[in-house]
Amino acid sequence: MSLDADWTRRWIVLVADRIAERKAELTHLDRDIGDGDHGENLDRGFSAVRARLDDLDAAATPGAILKLVATTLISTVGGASGPLYGTAFLRASTAAGDAETLDDVLVDVLRAARDGIVARGKAEAGDKTMVDAWSPAVEAAAAATDARSALEAAATAAEAGAAATEPLVARKGRASYLGERAIGHRDPGSESTALILRAAADA
Ligand code: ADP
Ligand code: MG
Ligand code: MG
Repeated sequence: MSLDADWTRRWIVLVADRIAERKAELTHLDRDIGDGDHGENLDRGFSAVRARLDDLDAAATPGAILKLVATTLISTVGGASGPLYGTAFLRASTAAGDAETLDDVLVDVLRAARDGIVARGKAEAGDKTMVDAWSPAVEAAAAATDARSALEAAATAAEAGAAATEPLVARKGRASYLGERAIGHRDPGSESTALILRAAADA
């Protein structure tokens, strides 16, 4: 199996399916420590992505697909997560370049996505944001020996990173207004990042 354009499409459609399935759960997390719209925001964005994917040239490269995801999320999601995920997919697209498969560039693609989120949102590790899922995922992927195991390792590390946001006080985003009241709640963006990376491993 190779991480070609068909795989990239399968991944993104799986993300759209799972966000639709888990929309209420993501929103519930955001209701606890934010404004209760994270599931709706991402569902709006990935539903639009799904519709536009059908119109994309059948010969589109993985990088072109990632770029479509980026521009669609930027124009439809809003909130904090729209520009953050939009930047992530845009940087990922640039890292993918014209490659026919992501097999040899996977770690660069994941790292570029994480770096884009950090450049845009200025969050550090432990700030209780999606960075706390992305950063361990990139490290785990970098330590793997092939693309298949890198995806599995990234997904598992992102899930652990999301769970590890629960005891933290937030220093970025809306949850930072809550101070210690954010303790005991999982960051919604870290959970959606884990969902996105688990879908990549399952695609
Ligand atoms: P909003 O907070 O504008 O309603 P969302 O609810 O869609 O947007 O997304 C909230 C998520 O965005 C948070 O759970 C967090 O993971 C992420 N986030 C917010 N601010 C930042 C930031 N500066 N850096 C990284 N991630 C952030
Ligand atoms: Mg919100
Ligand atoms: Mg909002």
